[in-house]
Amino acid sequence: GGKRRPIVGGNWKCNPATASSLDELCRNFDGVAPYLEKCDVYVCPSNLHVALVKDNFTPGVHVAPQNCNFKGCGAYTGEMSVDQIQDLGLGWVLIGHSERRGEFGLPTPAESNQLMATKLQYILDQGLNCVFCIGEPLSIRQKGIQAIVPILKALEDKSRVVIAYEPVWAIGTGVAATPEQAQETHKGIRDWIAANVDRATADAIRIQYGGSANAGNAPELSSFPDIDGFLVGGASLKPEISDIVKAIA
Ligand code: PEP
Repeated sequence: GGKRRPIVGGNWKCNPATASSLDELCRNFDGVAPYLEKCDVYVCPSNLHVALVKDNFTPGVHVAPQNCNFKGCGAYTGEMSVDQIQDLGLGWVLIGHSERRGEFGLPTPAESNQLMATKLQYILDQGLNCVFCIGEPLSIRQKGIQAIVPILKALEDKSRVVIAYEPVWAIGTGVAATPEQAQETHKGIRDWIAANVDRATADAIRIQYGGSANAGNAPELSSFPDIDGFLVGGASLKPEISDIVKAIA
């Protein structure tokens, strides 16, 4: 971690299978309470479960849906709107996860960079904060940076946008990027923002690392200056989430 306020998110993806196990997963976050003064923490439950759990976390933990649309309410079957998120009293949303962008081999990504840029601007215009995921498949090492090109204007809203750098090759594999690899890419993203927006934005924007982060590797990853926190999948379903927060807080 560096000079920015750290931020850690838990992505539950499409888990758990039963609503009766939600309480146990929420209790895993009770251990983060002592660190909330120094660190932002959010959880992304499945969209079906958001309303069920939103009041069941230790106070101060934010609940952020895993997606939203960029149109609002209306004839959008299967979508969630920003208005609905705000009406539940929630202040954050996560968009652009690689599992939605179709970067696991689908021929036509449903959620392109351009679409994500439109979504991000819409979300900010509506007054919500946004975690914006980027990350390259193994074959395209620099795509993480290319993916933020269409969102330059939105980045100027640096306090309300958090970038989650999640190399696809590290997600769910048990093999995280090395701290050097993550640091190099985070710095690359920051330098790129400095060159294409301005240095103040680059210095202020928070960049989370995601991809097999856990209590074992979080302390070393946290010691690198451009790593401002974590987006955690598998380990956010376990009590060790509080050790990950502790490592960076
Ligand atoms: C994720 O999908 O956001 C993620 C980081 O998953 P995991 O921690 O399980 O690799």
